[in-house]
Amino acid sequence: MSLDGNVVEPTGPIETDAVIIGAGPVGLFAVFELGLLDVKAHVIDILDKPGGQCAELYPEKPIYDIPALPSVSGQELVDRLMQQIEPFGPTFHFGERVDVLERLPDERFRLKTDAGTEFIAKVVVIAAGGGSFTPKRPPLEGIEAFEGSSVLYSVRRMETLRDKAVLIVGGGDSALDWTLNLQPIAKSLTLLHRRDDFRAAPHSVSKMRELVETGDVRLMIGQVSALQGSGDKLEGATIKTKDGEERIDVDVMLPFFGLTMKLGPVANWGLALHENLIPVDTEKFETSEKGIFAVGDINTYPGKLKLILSGFHEVALMAQQAARYVFPGKKVMFQYTTSSSSLQKKLGVS
Ligand code: FAD
Repeated sequence: MSLDGNVVEPTGPIETDAVIIGAGPVGLFAVFELGLLDVKAHVIDILDKPGGQCAELYPEKPIYDIPALPSVSGQELVDRLMQQIEPFGPTFHFGERVDVLERLPDERFRLKTDAGTEFIAKVVVIAAGGGSFTPKRPPLEGIEAFEGSSVLYSVRRMETLRDKAVLIVGGGDSALDWTLNLQPIAKSLTLLHRRDDFRAAPHSVSKMRELVETGDVRLMIGQVSALQGSGDKLEGATIKTKDGEERIDVDVMLPFFGLTMKLGPVANWGLALHENLIPVDTEKFETSEKGIFAVGDINTYPGKLKLILSGFHEVALMAQQAARYVFPGKKVMFQYTTSSSSLQKKLGVS
């Protein structure tokens, strides 16, 4: 998805200078440092929003060790980074996991996501943190057969759910947001949660309750105990409530049981790994493969500290070498943003 939420229809491989894998704080700041050196970037993240761990795991917690910001919440840091990189106009591809990374005969790289989007890039920056956030699978027999067609952990295109009997399971923000978004287009919408107490934003909860009052949403308190269907097509679900079991018609189930972090496809890209981390040098933060860099929590080197400020330092050095690959023969100049009019022009401040 693009930053404004529109689905970008790929018409062939997207050619770019750099692909950044991961939109955590370090991936975001990589856009800035590359941008100062005229390197254009596309950023891909499996999450549906920027910010990695800061936005997903602790958006409201204050961070106290970001230089010059005595206290900043996880989400505010992400918002500020998004504002800071705006002049460089990165293109975001949210809700997509990079599965394939391979070198082409001309030394560039080909990347492909699980949504089928393809990229050809001169350099690749892996800012994959602790790995890709992966949805937790409900413990239901046979659920694998329906995954991707009738059991969805994220919604790529709302239209595919038009006129469908939708079952949403969960009590957090994702479950409530999708209940409100999908209710107008679904044939029927059932929200199922273990207890009548929701962790989501209060205004979403009250809006959901209004829809329950008007009969537009059915709220059930209980758990799914079984799924029915044939092939990859879901037809129904058995719901266990305190009053017993009930079978309801379901075309599509959306379980929102939270996320875990797994290294995921990074392990399959032929890079040297050490305890699930990518060893890099501390001059350029380059991996065992020329032109592929690793920054932030995903890398390792003597003395590495998994801190946001370490990642910020790493991307500054990485960008110097990346620019040399993107513009071979061109001298990479070291300049201050305070005094360089050309940098200020790029930042739109001169
Ligand atoms: P991440 O934030 O992990 O982002 C990586 C992104 O890459 C993720 O969004 C992931 O979905 C994506 N990704 C991975 N693989 C793929 C793939 N194949 N395709 C697409 N996307 C992919 N640090 C501090 O400096 N100070 C603190 O006070 C602090 N407090 C913390 C508190 C908590 C509770 C936690 C959990 C961490 C804290 N940290 C703190 C650590 C800090 O959050 C991390 O160091 C930082 O998030 C690392 O940033 P990153 O960009 O490298 O990775």
